[in-house]
Amino acid sequence: MQAGNDARGEDRTRGAANEPSAELAPAAGTDWEYAPAPESRDIVTIAPEYGLFLNGEFTPAADGGELETVNPATEEPLARVAEAGPADVDRAVAAARAAYEQVWGPMPGAERAKYLYRIARLLQERSREFAVLESLDNGKPIKESRDVDIPLAAAHFFYHAGWADKLEHAGFGPSPRPVGVAGQVIPWNFPLLMAAWKLAPALAAGNTCVLKPAETTPLTALLLAEVCHQAGLPPGVVNVLTGAGETGAAVVEHPGVDKVAFTGSTEVGKQIRRTLAGTGKRLTLELGGKAANVVFDDAPVEAAVEGIVNGIFFNQGHVCCAGSRLLVQESVADAVVDRLRSRLSTLRLGDPLDKNTDIGAINSRQQLDKIRDLSDAGDAEGAERWSPPCQLPDRGYWFPPTVFTGVSQSHRIAREEIFGPVLSVLTFRTPEEAVTKANNTPYGLSAGVWTDKGSRILWLSQRLRAGVVWANTYNRFDPASPFGGYRESGFGREGGRHGLAAYLDA
Ligand code: NDP
Repeated sequence: MQAGNDARGEDRTRGAANEPSAELAPAAGTDWEYAPAPESRDIVTIAPEYGLFLNGEFTPAADGGELETVNPATEEPLARVAEAGPADVDRAVAAARAAYEQVWGPMPGAERAKYLYRIARLLQERSREFAVLESLDNGKPIKESRDVDIPLAAAHFFYHAGWADKLEHAGFGPSPRPVGVAGQVIPWNFPLLMAAWKLAPALAAGNTCVLKPAETTPLTALLLAEVCHQAGLPPGVVNVLTGAGETGAAVVEHPGVDKVAFTGSTEVGKQIRRTLAGTGKRLTLELGGKAANVVFDDAPVEAAVEGIVNGIFFNQGHVCCAGSRLLVQESVADAVVDRLRSRLSTLRLGDPLDKNTDIGAINSRQQLDKIRDLSDAGDAEGAERWSPPCQLPDRGYWFPPTVFTGVSQSHRIAREEIFGPVLSVLTFRTPEEAVTKANNTPYGLSAGVWTDKGSRILWLSQRLRAGVVWANTYNRFDPASPFGGYRESGFGREGGRHGLAAYLDA
């Protein structure tokens, strides 16, 4: 494993331009192997303080409450953001209600579409700014925020803009109606993308929104609020209330909210479901997962290893559908694990703004502690831990990519969602055993299957109890493709025609 903050890279930039220098000359062999390629953070202007985005304006919290957001790669404070209290939630819901009744609800779908297209184009135009801000606030590598989060967020607005004037042809009856005011609570792992997943379908269907981003990653949601303003979105259609868990609870519980959409932990999802029982509010929950990534002995090993790496180390493993349990057929287990180890040794951990970085920072101290605790439980329960040699930066929250072998199904690291760069490897002998082990989890969000045989893919995917099954690939997302789980992974779908159903009264 390579450390991203390579001091040798700095040395090479010394000396006058174009001037040959003994110091700059590469020594034979490895001296050219790495130079940092940092994305400039100058494209982003971070204000010292941010207000709530309420009724089309930025405004302080009524009680003056504030929270600090930090860069998890350096622990440097980035900004202070308002912490919305009950009075702010009242104001936001009232603004959303007025906008729903007077402007957005009655507006023809073709007109609503124009705003969504405008937001999508602005996201594209300002994509570098969004990518840098996302990496600073979240800790994810710039190549992921630049190539995945931001383009997909724009794609969600483009896709749903296309539906806004065609809802009567979407299979929900001749004149589907919006639900009303949507209260939406999102987590920190894909801050902008989750905001897009929530807002785009709701707005396309004619609803208005009160969105609560996660406490540790509020900045791109606030920049998206600025984009909504720039796009001329009528006041009150989108309201962004920053704050902590209590703010989320106040949004969810507010009697003026007609529909709740939540993405986050299963524990909080259960709490929300209990709170909403009997209220008549619509609810969709996108919760945790413990996905099996199943590799058969006829799978192309190189491709499978790339899929395993992408499945669990993408976004530091902070992915609800992460392939955190590798189920590999016993006859090829040693070969696959060997190849995986050598691939992991080439990954680069470090500065999220370096375009070479593969593994960025863990989002918060709290999440780092959770990953450490569960990994220690893996040691204590007898699994064998391996990480590539890797020097972690001195400051910030970091955890090396980690593989546990010798894992049995009863181990906590095989049962609980770690939500970090930690893979548990289990083996199986027959396809039936693979199915039994893959389904031995309370979750049901996603799974992967790697095999040369199409018939086996179909056989297995019919038996895996997961909302999404990827075949010979992993972590593929498209706004047209519905995503969601069942059992303790929640219910309801996001994306595609199915995702619109949550925001329409047919
Ligand atoms: P939470 O479920 O606590 O947070 C998700 C969102 O809900 C955040 O905006 C949070 O606010 C808010 N929230 C917290 N408590 C309440 C409440 N009582 N009512 C309404 N909203 C609430 O997840 P965490 O961030 O604490 O992560 C804990 C674990 O959850 C992770 O380790 C991971 O296992 C899992 N997780 C799963 C995700 C997924 O995509 N399925 C995403 C994130 C986490 P705030 O951030 O301010 O606390």
